[in-house]
Amino acid sequence: MEHRAEARIDINALASNISFLRSTAKVDLLAVVKADAYGHGLIEIGLAAEKNGADWLGVALLEEAIALRTHGVRIPILAWLVPPGSDFNQAVKYDIDVAVASIVTLKEISQVSNKPRIHIEVDTGMTRGGFLDEWEELLKADFSKVEVVGIFSHFARADEPGEKQNIDQLNVFKIRVAELAAIGINPPIKHLSNSAATLLDSNSVFDMVRTGISMYGLSPDFKTMGDSKKLGLKPVMQLRAKLHLVKTVPAGSAVGYGASAVTDHETKLGVVAMGYADGVPRIAQGAGIFVNGTRAPIIGRVSMDQFVVDLGINSTAVSGDWVIVFGDGSHGEYTADDWGAASLSINYEIVTRIGPRVPRIYAPHVY
Ligand SMILES: *Cc1c(COP(=O)(O)O)cnc(C)c1O
Repeated sequence: MEHRAEARIDINALASNISFLRSTAKVDLLAVVKADAYGHGLIEIGLAAEKNGADWLGVALLEEAIALRTHGVRIPILAWLVPPGSDFNQAVKYDIDVAVASIVTLKEISQVSNKPRIHIEVDTGMTRGGFLDEWEELLKADFSKVEVVGIFSHFARADEPGEKQNIDQLNVFKIRVAELAAIGINPPIKHLSNSAATLLDSNSVFDMVRTGISMYGLSPDFKTMGDSKKLGLKPVMQLRAKLHLVKTVPAGSAVGYGASAVTDHETKLGVVAMGYADGVPRIAQGAGIFVNGTRAPIIGRVSMDQFVVDLGINSTAVSGDWVIVFGDGSHGEYTADDWGAASLSINYEIVTRIGPRVPRIYAPHVY
């Protein structure tokens, strides 16, 4: 069946990014595939990452980890958002490492037989996940029923080169590692770096890096670090949609809900068959589509299933044409960075929110 929209996922680009990141980090690479692999498809990306050199996979949820295992992933998997009350027996059954960030979780997981594998998460200054006020209590805890495989933390501002908080967090991390060593616990895998730190800060790599956005070929922050191209990354997702309809309208035409835009000259408008139900942000203004070698900006508000673009009076586009919503930018099309900026958001949110109605096609990008 011919689709009205599709996200094309280029596995060769993914493989290139993984090999680039591994050679940059020079340590093991944990491929972050949470949230449906940032919208790229959990199982397909998990298996492709394993095949193309990832040493570990990382997810938020236990159910994401179990799905990877039941689909044949064999490399180690870490799940870091497994709250108290979870079925920790499943983690052992499926050979999944679990992050522990509280005393209650340590106690619960210690009830499970066969020595569950845990990574201790420490809060080094982001003030989100990880041990902070319970750290002293942790140092007195009973670790005899678990295997402490890792210790890790997460940066809040790694995408801001030279930011002092990064140095502070690194120092706190080293102190926590030493305090744990002082009670005889030496986790073999210490890990701290996300994509931005992997690309910018070789002092923070330790035994493993956890790369998400960069593996998908996107910059952690194009404003502070430069875009994909500058960083040597290849965007993995290209989003395409069909022009449902092309029509010529006169000057003075009010377009869409709320009549928020009015044409100031006669022009051709294109109705793109994607909307906010598919993850195109309703507030997006200043992005658009690419067709026949030119950009056409959004005009008016994005609707649930469709949005309108101003193709210009001289456009040769016709109803039924495919257009590029975003891609790697190499032909002049908008990028996920552009869509993020146009939506007061970031590329992470753009790719992650592409909805389930949009099929993921594992094939090269098309122009
Ligand atoms: C999401 C996440 C990452 C990956 O971050 P990127 O900026 O996408 O590389 C790494 N570690 C943890 C704990 C995360 O939650």
